[in-house]
Amino acid sequence: MSALRSVILAAADSRRLQRFVQRYGFRLGAARFVAGESLDDAVPVLRRLNEQGLLTNTTLLGEGVYDETQTREVVAAYRELLDRIQTEGLRTNVALKLTHLGLSIDEELAQRNVAELVDHAAARGNFVRIDMEESRHVDATLRIYRRLRESGHENVGTVLQSYLFRAENDLAALLPLAPNLRLVKGAYLEPPEIAYPRKRDVDAAYVRLLETSLRADGFTAVATHDETLIEHTISFAEERAIPKERFQFQMLYGVRTRLQLDLVQRGFDVLVATPYGPEWYRYLMRRLAERPANVLFLLRNLVRG
Ligand SMILES: Cc1cc2nc3c(=O)[nH]c(=O)nc-3n(C[C@H](O)[C@H](O)[C@H](O)COP(=O)(O)OP(=O)(O)OC[C@H]3O[C@@H](n4cnc5c(N)ncnc54)[C@H](O)[C@@H]3O)c2cc1C
Repeated sequence: MSALRSVILAAADSRRLQRFVQRYGFRLGAARFVAGESLDDAVPVLRRLNEQGLLTNTTLLGEGVYDETQTREVVAAYRELLDRIQTEGLRTNVALKLTHLGLSIDEELAQRNVAELVDHAAARGNFVRIDMEESRHVDATLRIYRRLRESGHENVGTVLQSYLFRAENDLAALLPLAPNLRLVKGAYLEPPEIAYPRKRDVDAAYVRLLETSLRADGFTAVATHDETLIEHTISFAEERAIPKERFQFQMLYGVRTRLQLDLVQRGFDVLVATPYGPEWYRYLMRRLAERPANVLFLLRNLVRG
């Protein structure tokens, strides 16, 4: 892992930095990665992406909620979001974090909250993706996903992170469920005892997950901006006659926009993860850590004022 990546992810915990970044807010450039601070801001952005042929998902930004009442407010906001997606006729599904729904307080609470939202989405023909967070939440997240699937919920998926040594075993355990899985490299600071420190090992693990998932039943969301991996997916699927309906590419709003549109032109489904909400600080810091050059982009905006 690059030293700069570790520094940025560690600095993300600094309250002073958070106050500073939050104060200068969108002017600093968060708007490049976030569709706005409110749902009303996000809707036209989602519509514009849909009009360009891109699928979208959206997230009300937030994580690490430690107050049960607050988790109920998050559930209410997601219910409203799912209703709004339906009335606006958007091609948008929802991705959420279980710590936003109370996972750090109580697993059962998070389970109830997410099950309510998965039901609400199902009644509207929509789908919920459970993001994957820090490694300490992986077991509980996979347990909750499995319970949802085993209780008959089909419109739900989750995420595996290739930087974790455990990901291949997790994939093998999930395959009998014909899961809908998003594959990512992983965005958090994890110790070398459990995660590959070197990028090339993370990339190689990604290829193994990708090939296993594509060969199996289920649906694979190839969530990366890495063109080598994207082209590998395309040729691997072509060689094995894996239909295009069995996978899609996913990228982040504000990252590799040209590549997103090129893939649509080539006939592939591309989903753009397009979050919104006032709590964008941690999300922004992860985006900076992925590409430290983004820090320069932010600083340039600050200087230009
Ligand atoms: C749709 C989606 C959902 C995700 N969900 C999760 C999740 O649930 N849990 C989780 O841990 N992680 C998640 N991630 C983040 C993921 O783990 C990686 O941190 C992120 O995708 C960067 O890795 P990469 O695969 O794009 O490859 P890299 O090898 O890091 O990058 C490939 C290329 O893309 C460019 N690039 C990558 N990131 C950026 C950026 N932020 N800004 C500008 N250029 C960039 C790089 O410059 C590089 O040229 C998600 C990513 C996507 C796309």
